[in-house]
Amino acid sequence: MIDRITAIKTTRMADDISKVFELSPKVREAIINTNREKFVPAAMRQHAYKLDALPIGAQQYISSPLTVAKMTEYLEPEGADRILEIGCGSGYQAAVLAHLFRGVFSIERIETLLSDAKKRFRELGLQNIHTRTDDGQKGWAQYAPYDRILFSAAPTFIPQAIIDQLVPRGIIVAPMEKNGQQVITRFVKIGDELMEDELEVCEFVPVVDGVQR
Ligand code: SAH
Repeated sequence: MIDRITAIKTTRMADDISKVFELSPKVREAIINTNREKFVPAAMRQHAYKLDALPIGAQQYISSPLTVAKMTEYLEPEGADRILEIGCGSGYQAAVLAHLFRGVFSIERIETLLSDAKKRFRELGLQNIHTRTDDGQKGWAQYAPYDRILFSAAPTFIPQAIIDQLVPRGIIVAPMEKNGQQVITRFVKIGDELMEDELEVCEFVPVVDGVQR
């Protein structure tokens, strides 16, 4: 649970998001119940509730709360059970998803970032987030298939292993890198094919190959 002072701040942040992007009641609640301050480096705490991305070290960023809200809505979490995230980073997006999905499986290629994220999940009592240090482009076959798959870093293509680990009718949301621009794209798996829908321009760090220890 979240303390009252923090809830006042996260509620105000959700209200700020609502001014520019419509939030469903469930996603709004998930955002209010996620202590964003815990995911931001101490020196950056005073900016935790602004609608900006912030540096978290290792040249990576905690996504802006507005971006997290959008990606979460585009995933259509209602009725879905299990989600795979590629790019755990600070863990903030995974923590929001933990309030909406029964199981969150999140992969991060930079070991130090993931060990910090795991500490935060433990402190916040988020027991339904499972993590792995790996190149997320391979997915996580052991727990497949997933109802939803989220890329929190920008890929140039969706690897076949990821498509294989998605349920029929499952949804992938990814900031696709295309001709020097990134577009949030939603894919629905129909048979062995992905039906694709381009939603809006965005800015994420790129998907990078391999693991960094
Ligand atoms: N979801 C995060 C956003 C982090 S930024 C948050 O809420 O804070 C994107 C993250 O994707 C970075 O931490 C980066 O290291 C990671 N990443 C990039 N390529 C990856 C890959 N191939 N496999 C797993 N993680 C990757």
